[in-house]
Amino acid sequence: MYMVTTPWWLRMWYRNLLWQMPANGNKVYLTFDDGPHPEATPFVLSTLAEFNAKATFFCIGKNVTTHADIYQQILEQGHTVGNHTQAHTNGFKTDTEKYVQGVTAAAQHINSSWFRPPYGRLTWAQASALRQMNYRIVMWSLLSGDFDTSITGEQCYNYVQQHLQPGSIVVFHDSAKALPRLRLALPKVLKYMQAMGWQSAAL
Ligand SMILES: [Zn+2]
Repeated sequence: MYMVTTPWWLRMWYRNLLWQMPANGNKVYLTFDDGPHPEATPFVLSTLAEFNAKATFFCIGKNVTTHADIYQQILEQGHTVGNHTQAHTNGFKTDTEKYVQGVTAAAQHINSSWFRPPYGRLTWAQASALRQMNYRIVMWSLLSGDFDTSITGEQCYNYVQQHLQPGSIVVFHDSAKALPRLRLALPKVLKYMQAMGWQSAAL
């Protein structure tokens, strides 16, 4: 189970983390986790380019090593990158020292102060260790559900369309698992944003 939008109590609990951007403009913040991936990431990049949209990619260190050329394309196209650990570590199952090592290992390949914890799972100790290292920890306000194999691309689009607003930080995935839903949902989300006069911006 997952929640499409993050409830207020969860945001209060982790109020030092970034859940949402200012809602007073026309900017929406699309983010893509778990890449680079040889099929999903080029699809995302070309779709974003069609709409002149910028986004943030939270990359896994070992995927950056495997797909260094695609990682370069993300940077060359003016998007922001963030650290998503070296091997998609679950913070609740890893002690702080090991967790920080995973972030530091990924930082060898990803030059960024933005960090998003895999699964959104991070302990207080891990969060404060990363903050001391000057990482800016980004959560989200809206999950697209693109990783959910029990829903269609249309349902994924509908979730996003119903909850999207200026300042939203939206999670998608440039992964093999999410791609079947992403192919339909991402262009539709960008079209909807265009109709609303909202711009997709990088962090
Ligand atoms: Zn992830």
